[in-house]
Amino acid sequence: MIETADVVIIGGGIVGSSIAYHLTGMGCTNVLIIEREAQQGLGSTAKSAGGVRAQFATAVNIEMSRYSIDFFSRFEELTGNTAQYRPHGYLFVATRQAHLDYLAANRQIQAAHGLTNVQAVTRDDIVSLIPQINSDDILGGSFCPTDGFVDPYSVMVGFAQRAKERGARVLLDAEVTGIKTDSGKVKGVETSRGDVATPAVVNAAGPWAKLIAGMAGVALPVEPLRRKLVHTQAFDRIPMHLPMVIDMTDGFHFRREGAGVLLAWHEGKDEFTFDTTFDDEFIERILTRAVERVPVFADAEVNPRRCWAGLYEVTPDHHAIIGPAPEVAGFYLANGFSGHGVMHSPASGLVAAEWILYGEPRTIDVHVRHLREKLEHDPSEPEFILTVRGVGYRFRP
Ligand SMILES: Cc1cc2nc3c(=O)[nH]c(=O)nc-3n(C[C@H](O)[C@H](O)[C@H](O)COP(=O)(O)OP(=O)(O)OC[C@H]3O[C@@H](n4cnc5c(N)ncnc54)[C@H](O)[C@@H]3O)c2cc1C
Repeated sequence: MIETADVVIIGGGIVGSSIAYHLTGMGCTNVLIIEREAQQGLGSTAKSAGGVRAQFATAVNIEMSRYSIDFFSRFEELTGNTAQYRPHGYLFVATRQAHLDYLAANRQIQAAHGLTNVQAVTRDDIVSLIPQINSDDILGGSFCPTDGFVDPYSVMVGFAQRAKERGARVLLDAEVTGIKTDSGKVKGVETSRGDVATPAVVNAAGPWAKLIAGMAGVALPVEPLRRKLVHTQAFDRIPMHLPMVIDMTDGFHFRREGAGVLLAWHEGKDEFTFDTTFDDEFIERILTRAVERVPVFADAEVNPRRCWAGLYEVTPDHHAIIGPAPEVAGFYLANGFSGHGVMHSPASGLVAAEWILYGEPRTIDVHVRHLREKLEHDPSEPEFILTVRGVGYRFRP
């Protein structure tokens, strides 16, 4: 054994760093983060658009966001670093009655869970926020002023630095290659730089989480999904102060990033892959889509070197799985954030630490009950839910 630790965290991205921050803040300081890259943040964390929102449709996501956005607003006080939280809002733009109905139903759920500042907006409200928008087919939408953006890398650094000040260690350039168990209990991990003895291992390996879970014999339904971002050159034809604008027609969305604009759109069918190649022809396609919604984007210029693809880590119901793995004592999961891992990083670190230290999530109920409710409503669904010690899994037999 080269090392021992009370808790080993596999993956030094934003989620692993938040778990270390929260564990050490609760007094568990013998924590070791193991990261296979030479520096932290090279996984999904660095590829994120940094959007944070509380406008969700389920209690657990709303509560995760409320905790996290409050945390981001006090990030410097709590960690000593900036999160670059910009509360510019998220604007959902509806083009069908079904979208308006969905947003209205969500606002009720949101208000019931303490999120009371989400407003229904009219087409005129939307035009006043972004006068250049093509509003011909817009029916209205929803806006929450405390939603916005953070800088994911700064957040990760804030968590990791404070955790290190409190005693956590980070082992870089070390790939975890195995998880040792004995009689169904975690005993340690094997890495490319030697073994570490520990009674508790947390899987915070982002898109690679399923591979890590497999090392402990756990079947984890988390898959990698490629998503692309296109960053325009400086562009002054739309307001400098913009919310994240989400066109509900097909999910096309954009926001300001410095003097330029960050554009995102998912076209076509989802395919699980670890391939993060960025296809330059996508730029033309997304610009064509962007011009339909905001015609002045016809004048936007894009340098392909400022575009990239990264990986979402998705679960079948697009909700994270946080808590103890059912099959192996001492093995914990903080996985499957499905495009929300940055915005939920404060809450996921807290809840994962509570599971590890207290045996239950104390601040936010992360049990995914809605999965079971869905199953009861639709018994023909060819999947079943396994809920063990509060962790909901959805399997296809
Ligand atoms: C294009 C794009 C846009 C996004 N936009 C948003 C957004 O607007 N808002 C939002 O909240 N989220 C967004 N996301 C999602 C978000 O980036 C992720 O959910 C989040 O970064 C997950 O963080 P993580 O720490 O779990 O994973 P990662 O950052 O991927 O960290 C996992 C780490 O594990 C390490 N690792 C893997 N295997 C091993 C091993 N065997 N041994 C040691 N280390 C290992 C990896 O090297 C990596 O550093 C976006 C993602 C993409 C790709």
